[in-house]
This record gives sequence, structure tokens and C-alpha cells, in this order.
Amino acid sequence: MLNIVLFGPPGSGKGTQADLIVQKKQLTHISTGDVFRKNISQQTNLGKLAENYIQKGQLVPDDLTINLLANELDSYSDSNGYIFDGFPRTLPQAQAFSKLLEKKEMNLSFIISLEVSENELVKRLLNRGLDSGRADDKNQEVIRNRIQVYHNQTAMLKNFYLNKLKDSFFSIDGERTVNEISEDIFNIFLRKK
Ligand code: ADP
Repeated sequence: MLNIVLFGPPGSGKGTQADLIVQKKQLTHISTGDVFRKNISQQTNLGKLAENYIQKGQLVPDDLTINLLANELDSYSDSNGYIFDGFPRTLPQAQAFSKLLEKKEMNLSFIISLEVSENELVKRLLNRGLDSGRADDKNQEVIRNRIQVYHNQTAMLKNFYLNKLKDSFFSIDGERTVNEISEDIFNIFLRKK
């Protein structure tokens, strides 16, 4: 079983790279952002709650997010492995995630951290906002807030995972072409086999 965490600020290309991995490897892609957006479009109770946070560029509270992730894992319980995209994003999420994986006798195989500068992130997100239909990509203030939240609450998880899984943590320069980045990621797959 192969379990991968794709880590990085908003707009760093996690979703793009997850899609490319799924095309080649039989893994289940779990994007907490996608699941929240699905709930919003279906106007579920969770969606209505999450929408208030997402539209301001804030994180959805940990208890909701951890529950959602646990449910996703349960609903794809016969998978060969998972790509976690956008989760965990806070220390409590990472701690709850470790416990959950332990309970399921699962391990993280590796963590890929995509590194992209702030100016490039803002440019990419505004660009994505032009045609993605995502309200949180249309407003420069919301975008800056998401990046700030990443620095305040999420970036520290690099140290958490470096301490926990030093040999399985890979930082990748995410400011290159999609193909170059993807090639680096598949090289990590080869090394970790
Ligand atoms: P991006 O990485 O471009 O911000 P995502 O689709 O991963 O896009 O996330 C969109 C929004 O969904 C986030 O700004 C946040 O409000 C919410 N969200 C997604 N994942 C999490 C999470 N693990 N914890 C809390 N909120 C989350």
C-alpha cells in the first residue's frame, strides 16, 4: 500500500500533480477541498458550515475536517493506497491523522512538499479564478489570507513530518513546468519502491 501526502501552499499545484499521479498509479485521490466543494454545491449541512470559512479564506474547523477525512477513508476502504491533497493543514489535524492511520494499520509512504513563492502563488490563483468558478480564487484579499493562513498554521507541519519521517520527506521546486515537477515526483516513487 502506498500513501502519499501532497503538501504545499494554495496554488502550489497539489491538485494538478495528484491528477497526474492517479493517471499512472492506482491510488485514491482524497482532496479535502474537493470534498468541501462537493458538499457546498449539494448544500449539505457540512457544506453550509464549510462555506462560511472557505469564502473568507479561512480553514474549516479541525473537528469537521478530521471527521470528513475519516469518512472519506472509510468510504474507499478497499483502496490500494491514497494521495492526501490539502490534508493535514494544522497540527491537530496531523496528530489526529497519525492516530487514525495507526488504528487502520496504515503508514505514510512519503510526503511531497511543493515549494512556490508567494508572488507566483497569487498570480496562479487569480488566473485560476478566471475560469475555475471558485469564489475563493477571485479575490486578491481572500487569496492573501489563504497564503497567510498557510504560513501561520500549515507550514510548521514540515517540521512535524521532518521529525517523524525524515527519510520520506521530499521538498520539490514547484515553480517549474508541470512535467518537470511530475518527473521529480515519479522519481521519488522509483526510489521508494
Ligand atoms: P487550495 O490548496 O488552492 O487552497 P483546497 O481545495 O485545498 O485549495 O482548499 C480550499 C479551501 O478548503 C481552503 O482554503 C480551506 O478553507 C478549505 N480546506 C481544505 N482542506 C482543509 C483542511 N485540511 N483543513 C481546513 N480547511 C480546509
